[in-house]
Amino acid sequence: MKTINIFGVTGSVGLSSVKVLKQHQDKFSVNAITGGNNVELLAKLAVELNAKYAVIANETKFETLKSLLSGTDIKIDCGKGGLLRAAEQEVDICLAAIVGYAGLKPTMRSLKYAKRVALANKECLVAAGELFIAEAKKHGCEILPVDSEHSAMFQCLQGSQNKQMEKILLTASGGPFRRYTMDEMRHITLKQALKHPNWNMGAKITIDSATMMNKGNELIEAFYLFPVSLEQIEVVVHKQSIIHSMIQYCDGSIIAQLGAPEMGTAIAYAIGWPNRLELDFKRLDLFEIAELSFEKPDEKRFKCLSLSKYAVKQGGTCATVLNAANEVAVDAFLKNKISFLNIADICEETINKAQSKNIIVNASELNDICEVDTMARQIAMTLF
Ligand code: NAD
Ligand code: MG
Repeated sequence: MKTINIFGVTGSVGLSSVKVLKQHQDKFSVNAITGGNNVELLAKLAVELNAKYAVIANETKFETLKSLLSGTDIKIDCGKGGLLRAAEQEVDICLAAIVGYAGLKPTMRSLKYAKRVALANKECLVAAGELFIAEAKKHGCEILPVDSEHSAMFQCLQGSQNKQMEKILLTASGGPFRRYTMDEMRHITLKQALKHPNWNMGAKITIDSATMMNKGNELIEAFYLFPVSLEQIEVVVHKQSIIHSMIQYCDGSIIAQLGAPEMGTAIAYAIGWPNRLELDFKRLDLFEIAELSFEKPDEKRFKCLSLSKYAVKQGGTCATVLNAANEVAVDAFLKNKISFLNIADICEETINKAQSKNIIVNASELNDICEVDTMARQIAMTLF
């Protein structure tokens, strides 16, 4: 029996992980689960999963959680402190599936107390990649990717030597606006942007996929997870989202991992590795798919992708600034305060302003990241 914490259990990845765990109740024992706001769902899942602890991030929902779980022996907690206390319980695996920067501190704390972090919360690596990886090394914690592309890379690397890897081919669906002209992109509505052609995901990552910031984030994620330079990562637009990514080796071989566009497989691989867990999801029908296509991304229309590369090249906390600006901009877009193209503009402008104010530094501790994140958010908020 492996013990597991699930951070962000009420979200899209969290709920996919619940489906996987329900098929393997003999192998995993659920310790703590956390949710942001949806206290009813959190309480229901705590009972269903037989969890030991349930933590609601929104403190105003604590009393509701208390009454929903009264009469059970499930311990409850709340707030940012509650998330950290959950992270401090020693477990075999922590599935990190909180969205955004909000997940950084609890996930970082888990690196010390969990043997393995199954990482969906990619913003941890975007905002604090170097520190995050160093912290994992320090505590001997394994980081297993849950992001489908990085799971694919990891799967394609099994049985090979990292140094024989020539290149990572990071596939991208291109999102709903892959073929839109710049002019058409000026009139994109929130409703259109929230409709991803292949994947069903949380709101923030769905918007990130539409702007291709998600691919930029994944490029940074790959950069920190695997021993490659930025130049060794190539984004390949593959609209069917069937190949989840590929590794090109020094002999010219390209190994790909294929699967249906659902998160179950990647989650199961991250928690089950080195074993594969049996899953009863619908199998891929290659005859139905019939064709796979590939094209180069257009970084002029999808400026977020080039901003991510720029942030990696700049180093220091440039990607922290980019992540903060993007979170502010996506939130504003979701509230109909700005247009779709404003998202990339706000990101670019925030980086420019942060550079002129010299707030992009080399972070030596998490506190430095937090300060830069706060300052970048303040800058971004002045831009709309
Ligand atoms: P989601 O919005 O569906 O769920 C996010 C979870 O985090 C929820 O449980 C929510 O309650 C919780 N949360 C939100 N704000 C919080 C806060 N301030 N404090 C504590 N908890 C908070 O998001 P998602 O689509 O499941 O994505 C989760 C993470 O996984 C993201 O980093 C995303 O980029 C990554 N990811 C998602 C998918 C996918 O298919 N959805 C695929 C790959 C990677
Ligand atoms: Mg992905």
